[in-house]
Amino acid sequence: MVEVYSPALEETITVNRIINRIDGGSKGPTVVFFAGIHGNETAGVFALEKELKKLEGQKKDVKGTIYGISGNLRALKAGKRFISEDLNRIWTKDRLNQLNNQNNHELEEKEQAELFKILTDILKTEQGPFYFIDFHTTSSKTIPFITINDAIINRRFSKLFPVPIVLGIEEYLNGPLLSYINELGYVSLGFESGQHDEIEAIKDSVAFIHLALLFAGCTIHSNFPEQSIYYDQLKNASKNMADIFEVIDLYGISEVDDFKMQPELKSFQEIEKGLFLATNNKERIYSAYNARLFMPLYQNQGSEGFFVIRKIKPFYLKISAIMRNWKMDGLLVLLPGINWEDESRKTLIANLRIVKFLAKPIFHLLGYRNRQLTEDKIRLHNRERASKLDMYRNEFWFKNKE
Ligand SMILES: [Zn+2]
Repeated sequence: MVEVYSPALEETITVNRIINRIDGGSKGPTVVFFAGIHGNETAGVFALEKELKKLEGQKKDVKGTIYGISGNLRALKAGKRFISEDLNRIWTKDRLNQLNNQNNHELEEKEQAELFKILTDILKTEQGPFYFIDFHTTSSKTIPFITINDAIINRRFSKLFPVPIVLGIEEYLNGPLLSYINELGYVSLGFESGQHDEIEAIKDSVAFIHLALLFAGCTIHSNFPEQSIYYDQLKNASKNMADIFEVIDLYGISEVDDFKMQPELKSFQEIEKGLFLATNNKERIYSAYNARLFMPLYQNQGSEGFFVIRKIKPFYLKISAIMRNWKMDGLLVLLPGINWEDESRKTLIANLRIVKFLAKPIFHLLGYRNRQLTEDKIRLHNRERASKLDMYRNEFWFKNKE
């Protein structure tokens, strides 16, 4: 049990690893909320602690099971993003193997081992369909938004919420928890509710909890009429921007860099080529794009200086859904230098020259994300082929086409 402080509320609460578990009055989906994977992002922890406690009183109106889980307990207690390494960058296959093969875990590994066990137990003992939601906040000012790995199940479920969606961030980050869960085939969304210590970040997390439970089928509107207020709240907070964006660039930094954003830049603000954005080790960094700025860094910890995003055209989204549905990526292996990794046909191994020749957008259309393997080969993992489609096929939102 640890104490967590919210500067926004000027309040301290104590939470366990499992903040709460609500077993509903009848069968239904399992919705798992994570919060505080980054210890200085407490909005989701406060929202879950309070809302799930309230929901306990209305248990009989809940279908299925709801979990609220706290992420980095030691960092939450310290009010820091992490203690020795970022808990949201270590969910890679290598690190998980390492975790299971050793007993003496240090700091963030201990947190990861505990979370991994809970996640495994949930998948083993609870009923599907499963939904995983991870709450975060940002160091800059921002409207609330969703981040997802670009799988059709994630797109369709995310589109129910009246906030912008950002795709493709996983290509720039190594080992976020949600990418790991997504690769297991489940719906998994990140919700960034606002700036770290603003009261709105807590309020918008509360709204998101209620809407997620509604859309997943845990609750129905007639029992929880306040859901429409929450919908309007998020719609207003995101200034009616519910477009889909993709990450096109990241300005990465390392611990030794002296990085400083120009003051008062916001996520989603439009930027022009040549705009003075930041300084790094006294060198001025200018925008190379006419696009939008995304998650500019205004804190000491973290290795992403800023991202650049661009709106995706609806036509592109439609085409990519059709191509994935038809499994058109199967045609790629007809090309020289591209082969399936194994019988499961979830991963392609491609010659780098071919990948360059085909260009990234083709692979994005087909649902692949890139991972460098060796100097001349690349491993491409398909999000669609990993999705547990049968688990979600009968859900109302799955039938909503692009
Ligand atoms: Zn975070």
